[in-house]
Amino acid sequence: MATTAASASSTPAVSPDAGAALLRAIAAQLPEVRLLTDAVDREAYRNDETAYLQAGLPLAVALPESTAQVAALVRLAAEHRVPIVPRGAGSGLSGGAAGIEGGLTIALTRMNRILEIDRANLVVVTQPGILNAELKRQVAEAGLFYAPDPASYEICSIGGNLGTNAGGLCCVKYGQTRDSVLGLEVVLADGRVIRTGGRNVKDVAGYALTHLFVGSQGTLGIITEATLRLHVAPPQRSTLLAFFPSLAATGEAVAAIVGAGLHPVTLELLDHETILAVDDAFQLGLERDAAAMLLVESDLPATAAAAELDAAAAACEESGATSLVRAEDPTEADWLRQARRLALRALEKQGTVRMEDVGVPRGRVPELLVEIQAAADRHGVRVATFGHAGDGNLHPNFIFDHDDPRAPELTHLVRDEIFAAALRMGGTVTAEHGIGLSRREALVDQVGPDVIDVMRSIKAALDPLGILNPGRVF
Ligand SMILES: Cc1cc2nc3c(=O)[nH]c(=O)nc-3n(C[C@H](O)[C@H](O)[C@H](O)COP(=O)(O)OP(=O)(O)OC[C@H]3O[C@@H](n4cnc5c(N)ncnc54)[C@H](O)[C@@H]3O)c2cc1C
Repeated sequence: MATTAASASSTPAVSPDAGAALLRAIAAQLPEVRLLTDAVDREAYRNDETAYLQAGLPLAVALPESTAQVAALVRLAAEHRVPIVPRGAGSGLSGGAAGIEGGLTIALTRMNRILEIDRANLVVVTQPGILNAELKRQVAEAGLFYAPDPASYEICSIGGNLGTNAGGLCCVKYGQTRDSVLGLEVVLADGRVIRTGGRNVKDVAGYALTHLFVGSQGTLGIITEATLRLHVAPPQRSTLLAFFPSLAATGEAVAAIVGAGLHPVTLELLDHETILAVDDAFQLGLERDAAAMLLVESDLPATAAAAELDAAAAACEESGATSLVRAEDPTEADWLRQARRLALRALEKQGTVRMEDVGVPRGRVPELLVEIQAAADRHGVRVATFGHAGDGNLHPNFIFDHDDPRAPELTHLVRDEIFAAALRMGGTVTAEHGIGLSRREALVDQVGPDVIDVMRSIKAALDPLGILNPGRVF
């Protein structure tokens, strides 16, 4: 398996004449659409959170306010053969929303309204530009709960969550974003607007198009509205921390909790390096000698939560946990969860961080942890691993000095070995961040040429001109 530094240069060059003609057409036909053409403004849309990828400078950034405006922009871009990058809040970690040189970035941030909270059907109908945290806040005011919660929930949009099929801290109980989607409104590559699904909990009419668009990283259509599942707000969470003397023991505890049929709402892992970074950043009083820790939470009613955490604690002790701590009160628990969410930022205080996103069947987490450390050690790379252990999804973070010229080469050497190990275990090269620009070469290793062929056929059927986010995924 050989991956190379990804760049946007593999996308077809856009003719400057086509770009200029598109800008004239937008100005003439859609004067009401806010269009950023100033170089400084456009620069802000060159990268997402994968700033190390070589992304292109967009020709312009359109900020539509309605589905009709999105559809009209897409029709004009198609007419002029100018590629489009759909973009949410730009927090992606695979380069999916990174700019294409001379392309049109359509940022959905102004379409950020909740259209309806339907309590009887436990759904929310929303525009895509709303931030995940804001949607959670608004439905919470109605006593309801939207489950998907990427660690980035305060800085990522629902559209981006749909585009990536985002995961998060409570996937282990409530599933990935896809599991919360009942219906979509999508602008297709020719400007037609379709609706898939709706408010029905059960619906098997035809192909499952809703789920096809979720996770397609803006390559098949632009999502302009979503109907999402809600839950009645669960009780306040109860929280347990368990510290372990080795990575293998930590992984075994994860496998034991899953194997015991427990359904904690959070089952997160932080390794030694991450514990130190988070503790330095937030002064939490964590056990700094531990090889790793688990954050386990229950959102069951009080007695059931206590029983669930007792059973998780027993599984941790049997796997060799050296100490167990229960959060004293909800504020302390919130702090601990927030600290986990900010693990990447804490590591970034120490140097340049390159984050990966591998997944394995959950019983193989112990093996994956050992393989990650071994691959990093072989190449003398510092690695800090944390992640959604209850989903089998770990984020190895490679940490380099800011000016280390070997960072790109070493990142690729180590991550290729980790990818190969994950695939040997029946795992995946990306569990929630997406293939995007940064993992394209690894996709074929995982799925094989026939599956790539099927994916290409779907892309060709929905986007025959190849104008929607070209060069991403494939
Ligand atoms: C500190 C930090 C922590 C993170 N933690 C997590 C985590 O726990 N779990 C997780 O899954 N991710 C995580 N991420 C990654 C990122 O936040 C998610 O991928 C998120 O879903 C991206 O949302 P966004 O609005 O920023 O999308 P963007 O980055 O703008 O776009 C992401 C992709 O979606 C497409 N897209 C955006 N809007 C639309 C639309 N309306 N229609 C069609 N396609 C669209 C884009 O083309 C792109 O391919 C984290 C990132 C950071 C920086």
